[in-house]
Amino acid sequence: MISTPPHLEIYDDRFKSLVHPMSALETIAEGFTWTEGPVWFGDHKCLLFSDIPSQRILRWSETTGLSTYRSQSGFNNGNTRDREGRLIGCRHGFRDVVRTEANGQLTILADSFEGKRLNSPNDVIVGSDGVIWFTDPTYGIISNFEGYKSPPEQSARGVYRLGPDGVLAAVVTDFAQPNGLCFSPDESILFIAESGSSHDDAVPSVIRRFRVEGATLIDEGVFATIDKGLPDGMRCDVEGNLWSSAADGVHCFAPDGTLLGKILVPQVVSNLCFGGTDGHRMFITATTSVYRIFVDVQGAESWTRSTSKGMA
Ligand code: MG
Repeated sequence: MISTPPHLEIYDDRFKSLVHPMSALETIAEGFTWTEGPVWFGDHKCLLFSDIPSQRILRWSETTGLSTYRSQSGFNNGNTRDREGRLIGCRHGFRDVVRTEANGQLTILADSFEGKRLNSPNDVIVGSDGVIWFTDPTYGIISNFEGYKSPPEQSARGVYRLGPDGVLAAVVTDFAQPNGLCFSPDESILFIAESGSSHDDAVPSVIRRFRVEGATLIDEGVFATIDKGLPDGMRCDVEGNLWSSAADGVHCFAPDGTLLGKILVPQVVSNLCFGGTDGHRMFITATTSVYRIFVDVQGAESWTRSTSKGMA
């Protein structure tokens, strides 16, 4: 370790060009139960995020502060946007992946596979080709969410691919608990978090790397290991560095898997996203709070900086 500023651990000098040691970690919202699913809406200059147990999706902006975007959210967890700018979310309660149309109506995109209900879709991303990829661990149906605890129907805790034609395919089926996922900047690599260690000590807390070959994923093994807690939500920046949630903060890995540094956060981190009106902010959902920090690099998802329309 090269130096230890109050909220950064720097393992490699390259990290200094990504997060300035003087960058402040700000709390922008607090008092929740378990925050997750941050997604930046550049066209509305606002952040949406989930507070899963309270069944809310919250909206935060620099100018108007905090408000409720949706109540009775069905224990909505991970969020992203499709290429038309529409909100795509994962709902534990309804065990589905749902799209919010421009008029505010909800369209269920996937809730079953081979005639059986999904477990509890957790996190989701959309490729530039419109393909939706999501993970389906059992967390949402084994947790004590009143009224929604139920046994899994799927034999696997799968990673799914939903094509624009509506065809749903299980593309990886050997995870203990798949969780967050993100693309490399050119979308040739898909990273998927294995967070199964939360229920089985024998399962390592790793990020797995897959090469995208059309509609299939080629397993390229372990990309990185999380040394504190487990990986949940993740994002890549434009330079291909991967930023992962962990128990002690956000861990930043170079494209070759080298740990460059950590942003230390006072609470267990669940997820993160890039955004901000200047495209240089990282928003971090961590247990009961949401944090923001200035970063010198922008998100790989070009739409986090776009002005595309979509939010109702
Ligand atoms: Mg997650």
